[in-house]
Amino acid sequence: MPADPYAWIEESLATIHRADWYRSVQTIHGLPGATVLLEGREVINFASNDYLGLAGDERLIAAATIAVQEFGASSTGSRLLSGHRELHRELERAIASLKQTEDGLVFSSGYLANVGTITALIGKRDLILSDQYNHSSLKNGAILSGATIIEYAHSNVETLRTQLSQQRQNYRRCLIITDSVFSMDGDLCPLPALLDLAEEFSCMLLVDEAHATGVLGNTGAGCVEHFGCTGRQFIQIGTLSKALSSLGGYVAGSAALIDFLRNRAPSWIYTTALSPADTAAALTAIKIVQQEPQRRAQLWQNVAQLKQVIQQRLPNLILLPSSSPILCFQLPTAADALKAGKQLKAAGIFAPAIRPPTVPTSRIRISLMATHEPAHIHKLVEILAQLFP
Ligand SMILES: *Cc1c(COP(=O)(O)O)cnc(C)c1O
Repeated sequence: MPADPYAWIEESLATIHRADWYRSVQTIHGLPGATVLLEGREVINFASNDYLGLAGDERLIAAATIAVQEFGASSTGSRLLSGHRELHRELERAIASLKQTEDGLVFSSGYLANVGTITALIGKRDLILSDQYNHSSLKNGAILSGATIIEYAHSNVETLRTQLSQQRQNYRRCLIITDSVFSMDGDLCPLPALLDLAEEFSCMLLVDEAHATGVLGNTGAGCVEHFGCTGRQFIQIGTLSKALSSLGGYVAGSAALIDFLRNRAPSWIYTTALSPADTAAALTAIKIVQQEPQRRAQLWQNVAQLKQVIQQRLPNLILLPSSSPILCFQLPTAADALKAGKQLKAAGIFAPAIRPPTVPTSRIRISLMATHEPAHIHKLVEILAQLFP
């Protein structure tokens, strides 16, 4: 009897269980918001990317509903074939206007935007320099490109400079890739220094604004605006699925870049266009981001409040450095993080344990929303004080 060629899958699952790395889904009922029904129980939601609380907003729901009625449930084809609608172009213009770039391009997800853009820009004769904490979509895009990949120490401009001075001349093109807000830590990339290095060594720079768009900067344009780098030449990527409360990804940059990607990015060319509902919801969200800065102000007030109360009441809880609504505290092992996550959930707080291989060290990750009320934040602190006295 030949061996079962699929038997390794169950063995591999058993190994994942033994390491406390096993993951499974949890069902949410009803509308998303600052509180949600999680497996039948109301919990305060510190696990959402819906930073401005727009996913359940009636204006987004209405825009999506009208788009479905007017344009149908599916876009029915790729953009270059039969799927292109005026609505897509409107959304791309809105993104370019928010980001103050010449043009924009929407992909079916942020993951696909990263994979498609990196593989279009870079190939076998080229070099990618990648922050060690980058999101999976940047890392996998880099691998798929076939370029030589060098990881640099997290946000470390000095090691990056050394690597560039040693390696840059051996390659044709060079691309530096980085999250702007690091998604599992909450800190920011050193954007101005990265832009200077990219210029000095004639490298392209790609910045993933997934957790920054709608959140950082005066008008919500992201880390780029926060650091006063608007208008400088580089490639911005992002998602429509976090503060913009829809589904999809985007690239913003020069008109030539966007035109090139329409011709060369496989994950844009060979995939179905964004659905009318997602497109219309994202377009409405961008308008709200631009017209209601008070939402962003409320979000940052919540961040400041939680940080302050943690400092006063929970001196033993060490937060990882953060300049975003993502606040993490580290725990010694994956088992400890899992246990804390379960205890929090039992007490009515939804804040996930993040473990390897997603991150090098286990932690509880809290993400704040504009729609959290003072009572929500106080309850979180009360429960943390009980669990980590
Ligand atoms: C969430 C995220 C993505 C993926 O975006 P989706 O639209 O959900 O596919 C890409 N990059 C970073 C940094 C992210 O946090």
